[in-house]
Amino acid sequence: MELRTAHLYPDVMNIYGDRGNVITLRYRCEARGIGFPLTEVNTGDPFDPADFDLILIGGGQDREQRRIADDLVARGEVLRQAAETGMPMLAVCGGFQLFGHRYIDHEGGVIPGIGIFDLETRHPGPLADRCIGDVILETPLGEVVGFENHGGRTYLGPVQQPFGRVRRGAGNNHEDGFEGARSNNAIGTYLHGSLLPKNPRLADELILAGLRRRYGPEVTLTPLDDAAENAAHANATGVTNRRRQ
Ligand code: GLN
Repeated sequence: MELRTAHLYPDVMNIYGDRGNVITLRYRCEARGIGFPLTEVNTGDPFDPADFDLILIGGGQDREQRRIADDLVARGEVLRQAAETGMPMLAVCGGFQLFGHRYIDHEGGVIPGIGIFDLETRHPGPLADRCIGDVILETPLGEVVGFENHGGRTYLGPVQQPFGRVRRGAGNNHEDGFEGARSNNAIGTYLHGSLLPKNPRLADELILAGLRRRYGPEVTLTPLDDAAENAAHANATGVTNRRRQ
């Protein structure tokens, strides 16, 4: 088997170590003998989601988001169709914001999104505090830890499912206790870190969703020795609890 992965705009949307998510997925596939062909999709590159099993997009400052928004919007229809057919996706921070309807940036400029998630993000302006720090979430996949650094505040539509609830940290808007969004197998989150090395169960959920979508529901993953990953997760949880009493 193989997990054909598309990484959107890695030359621009890749801050706070989001490339570590690709490194984790590659390791967790190849350690099981699963191929991991990776395609980087930058502005203007040819791209058909039907050729892939998993899609990733990382974070970026407002300037970077503006740089890729038109190209992303032009791909919006095929990406929405892929999400609707169960394609696993991981959209982090700036990428997550642009997987909603729009992001009103720190200058009040409107950056269009692609509406995979029913949400909108609004930056409160350059004088407002950013949401920065370690985060612990409670999610259907268990506890998830990471790091957030965003100015935008995200508001979910009335029936949009969050990715999780905040136990420590700001999350989507530091008001409603929600963090990220989930629609089918598409997951959006503010968590950098990078996210996946310290959250192996989430990484495996994304891999499994991609493999089952292509090879059928009988696919299973052999367990890996996650002692180091679990120790890193426990350390992050401890640090967060001490810092964010
Ligand atoms: N530019 C967006 C914000 O400030 C996203 C930042 C990011 O990707 N870390 O909210």
